[in-house]
Parts: sequence; C-alpha cells; structure tokens
Amino acid sequence: MLQAVSDLPLMIAPFVVIAGVMMLILRVRPADLPAPPPQDPAAHLEERKQVIYENLRDLSFEFRLGKLSDADYEKTKTGLQNELAQVLAEIDRLTGALPPRPRQEAARAAAQPNVCPKCGAGFEKPMKFCGECGAAMSSAEGGAQ
Ligand SMILES: [Zn+2]
Repeated sequence: MLQAVSDLPLMIAPFVVIAGVMMLILRVRPADLPAPPPQDPAAHLEERKQVIYENLRDLSFEFRLGKLSDADYEKTKTGLQNELAQVLAEIDRLTGALPPRPRQEAARAAAQPNVCPKCGAGFEKPMKFCGECGAAMSSAEGGAQ
C-alpha cells in the first residue's frame, strides 16, 4: 500500500508534464500568432495578379518549347486570363480606381440638400425653389430625376 502510493507521482508525472506543456502552448500561441488581419486586401490581390502573370509567362514558354498541345495551352491560358480579369476587377473595386460618377454626384447632392443644383447657391434650410435663380430644388422631396 505504501509502495503504491509512492509510485503514484511517478506514474502521473509524464501526464502532468504533457498537460503543462499543452497549457503553455495554448497560452503562448495566441500571443505568438497575432491573427493577421487583412488590412490591405488589395495587396493580397496584387500578389495573385503577379502569380497569374508569371503562370502565363511560364505557360507560353512551355508552349513554345513544345511541352503543351494547342488545346492544353488554349484551355490553361483562357483559365488564367479569366482569373486575371476577376482579380483586376476586384482590385478596381477595392481601390476605387474608377468610382462611378453618377453615384458620387448623388452622394454630394444628398449631403447638401440645400444647394441649388443649377447655380450652386447654398441656403441655410431646404427650399423648394432656389432664391437666386428660381430653379426647382426638389432633392429634399426625394429626387425628381
Ligand atoms: Zn439656383
């Protein structure tokens, strides 16, 4: 009985060590691995774009060496070009390279409902007609366009 009790710590010692190591790992890990937030998704897309360009270069290189059949070359090239188009479109969307003008103007009009759309005169409160040129200022009513 005495012997059994004295053996117990030796028997559980490995498990205690393992449990301790596991706790250490679990506790340290979140600090060691700060979740990489996608701060700039466009950068990730730029990388993909470069990879696709490289793949296209490699593809045409291998095709010139005669490693690919015409069908394989066309198929792979079309796939890469489609992917490239998607990546480029996504980059445009994220960076706002081409903001649609109508939306921009609408946003500006909504932000300044007291500005005459015709002559640009500003007023302190919403008005139906411009006090300067007499043009209808209907943006407050919900847009007559
Ligand atoms: Zn006006």
